[in-house]
This record gives sequence, structure tokens and C-alpha cells, in this order.
Amino acid sequence: MDLMEYQAKELFAKHGVPVTLGRVVESPDDARAAAEELGGRVVVKAQVKTGGRGKAGGVKLAADPDEAVVHARAILGMDIKGHVVRRVLIAPAAAIAEEYYFSFLLDRSNRSYLCIASAQGGVEIEEVAHTNPEAVAQISIDPVTGVDEAKAREIVTAAGFPADVADAALPAVLRLWDAFVAEDATLVEVNPLVKLADGTVEALDGKVTLDDNAAFRHPEHAEFEDKAAADPLERRAKEKHLNYVKLQGQVGIIGNGAGLVMSTLDVVAYAGEEFNGVKPANFLDIGGGASAEVMANGLEIVLSDADVKAVFVNVFGGITACDAVANGIVSAFKLLEERGEAVAKPLVVRLDGNNAELGRQILADAALPGVEQVDTMDGAARRAAELAAAR
Ligand code: GDP
Ligand code: MN
Repeated sequence: MDLMEYQAKELFAKHGVPVTLGRVVESPDDARAAAEELGGRVVVKAQVKTGGRGKAGGVKLAADPDEAVVHARAILGMDIKGHVVRRVLIAPAAAIAEEYYFSFLLDRSNRSYLCIASAQGGVEIEEVAHTNPEAVAQISIDPVTGVDEAKAREIVTAAGFPADVADAALPAVLRLWDAFVAEDATLVEVNPLVKLADGTVEALDGKVTLDDNAAFRHPEHAEFEDKAAADPLERRAKEKHLNYVKLQGQVGIIGNGAGLVMSTLDVVAYAGEEFNGVKPANFLDIGGGASAEVMANGLEIVLSDADVKAVFVNVFGGITACDAVANGIVSAFKLLEERGEAVAKPLVVRLDGNNAELGRQILADAALPGVEQVDTMDGAARRAAELAAAR
């Protein structure tokens, strides 16, 4: 999960990294109130999960509350690289003397961590790395020993920070490392890390990526989820612990196993070219277990997508054999009827693998309304695309 700047800075503050928090608002009126409360010059910053906000006009200084309102009005609703701005951060304007770049990240290929730091900050680091590679220091970090005082000193020296900045940045580097480790982040980036007019060092911007695999260790991270931005179907699917991603097509997809579902998306998109270009409507992996309840929950989510015209259930029986899955589908139809959500869209089912014959027989005997069986994946994809195009 990626965090917005204000959330990243909240995490930084928790670990003692120097930051200025300010207020997050969603309307020009609240921007005025925040600017009045803070007093003096403020900065109005778009809160979206992408960089380059400054360049796009999403970061503006305001001399007084009137100007803060003008900027907030312009920035709220702005589209920055496909991200619509719903919130702005109002913070006391910093008196910047110099801007630096600093980050910790997971270095998967070397099975270690990496620090990237540069005395040339504030601009895109990719750009600096391209035009002036020797200005960007890359320091490998042993995951076992981490960043201690000596390592932090090595980092600020390699980065080429001036001596006074190096001294002032040292504690910030150590605290950023604490945040990186304690919060199970895979990226902590500060661009710019600034030297202020009074010589102190502060994280003026923050980008954090949290490792979702460690979410169970951090129930408090749930508050960072952007519930308004999440697709409503994805949100409901998540509540039901389903591995679901909404796409833009018309053929609902349910499969067991991420690899099978991925290839099902391809096969349906390919088959759909022949039928008005219909496309897969979602990714949904119901996993190896595929119980009746999981099948019912999956069907409910997929069928409640108004874009879905037909559903393709693609199952390869493994440890959970096809007869169990077929019984799951039959029970799921009953469950949905009891919930008042009776299946009203055509379903194409392909069962293969362990106990496929038995599974197909169970489904045939049940004669569920709107359910067709096709034995091959390609054939079933084609039929589902055809049905979706016809409705
Ligand atoms: P980004 O463009 O998305 O990376 O947004 P940043 O938060 O990094 O802001 C972009 C630039 O705006 C920074 O590099 C600064 O030069 C400038 N900036 C941001 N906040 C302030 C501030 O409080 N005071 C001043 N003077 N400049 C700021
Ligand atoms: Mn930045």
C-alpha cells in the first residue's frame, strides 16, 4: 500500500523524524480555516499517490488565507497523472535553504536494503541519475546489522551532504531507518529532505510504500486505506476476503488459482475480439478451497457488477476436486436465492482436472438455470464472450 504525503509524514513523526504536519482538508472553506489557524504563509499541497505534484501545479505557496482558498479551489479536483485530488494539505510554509534527496528501499535482487541519497534533491532523482550519475550515492545496507550511527555517517558522507547538513541529517537518517523497519515499509523516500534557514533538517515531502504481506502485524495501518478511492465492489470483495480486482469489461471471471485466472483473462480478451470486443470484467481467484460459501460470495460480487453480462467459471480441480466445486456451485445458487440475489445472468462453466467427469455430471443433473458447460477453456471463453456480446 502506498501512502499519501500527509500519511507518510504522520508515520515519520511517530518515529521522531522532523516534519511539519499541518492540516488535511477537502474544501476551500476548510482550507481557509486551516490557514487562519496556522497563521502566516502556508503551502497548499495536493494529496495524491503520485510524484511530480509541484510540476503539475499541485503545490502552491499562499501569503494569506485568501490566497490559500484560491489555491485550494484550483488544486481540489485537479487531475495529476490520472489521480484526482480530493484532499489538500495546508502546512506552514518552510523557509528552504537547500534541498536533498533521501530514500531507503528494499533491494530484492541483492536480497538486502539500499539507501539512495543525493545532495541534488527536489528534482526527479531519475533525472539526476541520468544526467549526473555520480551525484547519486547508492549505499547497500546489510539487513542483519541495519543502520547504526556509523552506517548513517557513511551514508551522509557518500551522499555528499555539506558537513553542517551531514551532522544535522544524521539523527533524521537514523529515525527514518527506524520508521522503515518498524512499519515494514519497502520504500521510504524523502524528496526533498531540506535544510531550513535556521540550519535544521526536515522531511518536507514523504513517500512510503508499506509491505502488504506484513499488514497482519499492523492493524493500525488500516486507517491509511483510501476507502473513498477504492472501487465499491473491490471494497465489498475485500470484506469477504476475496482476491478480486475490478476491470472494465463485460465477462465476469471466477477461477481457482491466480495463474489460471490470469490466463483466463487473456483467453477471454482474445475470444472477445470476435464479439464486439467484449473483455473480462474482473480478476477473481477463489483459491484452492473453493467452498460453496466462497463460490457464493464470489458469484454475488461478480454478478452485482452492472457491467457484467455473462460469467465464466473456470476451474481446474486439484486437491479440491471438481465434484466438490460442482457441489459448491449448486449450493451457491441456493445460497444466493435465499439471499434474494438469485442468479439472473448466463454462466459458462468449464471443469477440468481432478474428478472432472463427476463434477460435470453433478452440474448437468442439477440443471441450474442459465448454466452451460463447455469442456475446454478456449471454447468456454468463446461462449462466454458470445453470450456477453448478445445481451
Ligand atoms: P512533489 O512535486 O510531488 O515531489 O511535491 P513536493 O512536496 O516535493 O514539493 C515540490 C517542491 O515544492 C519542493 O521541492 C519545494 O521546492 C517546493 N515546496 C514544497 N513545500 C514548500 C514550502 O513549504 N516552502 C517552499 N518555499 N517551497 C516548498
Ligand atoms: Mn517531492
